[in-house]
Amino acid sequence: MSSSYTRAAQGGTGAVKCGGNYGAGLAAQAEARRHGCDQVLHLDGAADGGGRIEECGTMNLFLVTARGELVTPPLGTILDGVTRGTVLALAPEFGLTPVQRAVTLAELRAALADRTVTEVFATGTAAVITPVRAIKGEGYTLTAGGGGPGPHTLALRERVLDIQYGRKADTRGWLRPVR
Ligand SMILES: *Cc1c(COP(=O)(O)O)cnc(C)c1O
Repeated sequence: MSSSYTRAAQGGTGAVKCGGNYGAGLAAQAEARRHGCDQVLHLDGAADGGGRIEECGTMNLFLVTARGELVTPPLGTILDGVTRGTVLALAPEFGLTPVQRAVTLAELRAALADRTVTEVFATGTAAVITPVRAIKGEGYTLTAGGGGPGPHTLALRERVLDIQYGRKADTRGWLRPVR
């Protein structure tokens, strides 16, 4: 956790895939690397002090709860990722209720500690679905679930790849033939 940088502000360009957004994330990414992390977990920079989780590097973030919810931050200052939409649409097929709501880092830390959040993963076109093993901040490291890819993470990843590669039927018109 670093309180030095923000990626996107309200009224800004955080919700679109615009080159300028990435420049703002580079310093934070370099700091994450120095601490042995692969990615940055961006929080919102809202005037009320924020602290709500937004995105993970250039991926959208998802939490699986012990109650069977698939929670992801609402749109606004985060990118409306195609993979985010795909995973939200597929969630019910895996017994998960999709929920778009704000989650503070404090809430996430507590939920990882008491295992009410059992899996954390990030989504993007390049990475498809990437499990998050642990979240590290100043003075703490919290393991997500068992520290390996969780069952929902793996099942959703497999399903997205199966649809992309034509191994499972695309019932939603997601695929387009390219001629
Ligand atoms: C590309 C990107 C994502 C993921 O979007 P997809 O459409 O799923 O590839 C998420 N956040 C940011 C900031 C991005 O640039």
